[in-house]
Amino acid sequence: EAYVAAIEAANPSLNAYVAVTPDKALDMARASDARIAAGEARPLEGVPLGIKDLFATEGVHTQAASHILDGFKPGYESTVTANLWADGAVMLGKLNMDEFAMGSSNETSYYGPVVSPWRSEGSNAKIVPGGSSGGSASAVAAHLCAGATATDTGGSIRQPAAFTGTVGIKPTYGRCSRWGTVAFASSLDQAGPIARTVRDAAIMLKSMASVDPKDTTSADLPVPDYEQSIGETVKGLKIGIPREYRVEGMPEEIEKLWQQGIDWYRQAGAEIVDISLPHTKYALPAYYIVAPAEASSNLARYDGVRYGLRVECDDIIDMYEKTRAAGFGREVKRRILIGTYVLSAGYYDAYYVRAQKVRTLIKRDFELAFEAGVDAILTPATPSSAFGIGAMADADPVEMYLNDIFTVTVNMAGLPGLAVPAGLDSSGLPLGLQLIGRPFDEQTLFRVGQ
Ligand code: GLN
Repeated sequence: EAYVAAIEAANPSLNAYVAVTPDKALDMARASDARIAAGEARPLEGVPLGIKDLFATEGVHTQAASHILDGFKPGYESTVTANLWADGAVMLGKLNMDEFAMGSSNETSYYGPVVSPWRSEGSNAKIVPGGSSGGSASAVAAHLCAGATATDTGGSIRQPAAFTGTVGIKPTYGRCSRWGTVAFASSLDQAGPIARTVRDAAIMLKSMASVDPKDTTSADLPVPDYEQSIGETVKGLKIGIPREYRVEGMPEEIEKLWQQGIDWYRQAGAEIVDISLPHTKYALPAYYIVAPAEASSNLARYDGVRYGLRVECDDIIDMYEKTRAAGFGREVKRRILIGTYVLSAGYYDAYYVRAQKVRTLIKRDFELAFEAGVDAILTPATPSSAFGIGAMADADPVEMYLNDIFTVTVNMAGLPGLAVPAGLDSSGLPLGLQLIGRPFDEQTLFRVGQ
């Protein structure tokens, strides 16, 4: 009841929720009360969560913040959310996001931008929460849920977490099932939590993760009790500092934050080692080939026949065209155009195949660092703090893509990445650090992140 009231009070100004499900929430909460009274509490019993609009929730609004999915209510539940409900969690509603998870500021949503609860000192200007999981980050930061599900294809969990002073982890590719999560770029997409603390994120991921026969890329590996590794010392661990992340024009505040992080780990008894990830500079261009290519294929299914919006026409080709023209926003159309271009005959080898080769090199860079004994890699999470809503409206789209410069490598290599709040910039806005780990070694990230 307290969370439902808080959402009613704050959501008109934050726009974090696109659908609130108070009846469902209270029913689930009552069932949890009964469980607790009977001494049968499950790991997340009664914990109220917000769900990114990308996860299919049975009978409940699921539109990936897109006009083209108007009115779509799936007849099935995503594996990740089903896992959370099976562990006793309570659903508060669906959270706003960039349309089809494409964006870094939550300004591409059909429902309008999400507002961060943060403000620069002495200013009332509205700040973006980051994206694409901006609704998740804003809701967690503003206490409109105890934790939220999110997804990360190129940074969409870690960048909004860094922008809002929350904790977010993109698990290893395959840790969580992608079944029932609206697909953006299938070889990069991973679900993960955004939470207020490292411990909360660890508890949530334990419930979200599972092997799933409905997703053949989900990993058949035991899911450790992540909470247990929290509190263990970092003494003797090797923390790698990749020199290629010292990008040109890095703001001094980010440089200082990173150095602060290095000092903290050194003081805590970790060994700091310089490492090289030589193919880092190719990650962003390669990502913006691979991700749109997969997106253009995944989004071909929205044709006015099977889901949501249909613009009625006598001719079926007309109907496809008018539906897609009306249903997709500008950024989604841009991705489809780029994707179909790089996949087309004559360009496929030059762009798509080449980007896949670059991807292998990026993965190999990380493997070599881990083979040399590095336990975790420390980098800034973002190249800046959050910017104002509308500040990038007239910028070249590539300016927005640069937000992902520290996060996309992790998706390209399929590794786990954790963003933790690490301080404030000179105007009082949050900044985050990123920890990158070995495949399926989320435990070490939780331990080091805490
Ligand atoms: N900002 C990146 C993009 O627009 C990443 C988005 C994501 O991780 N879903 O593609």
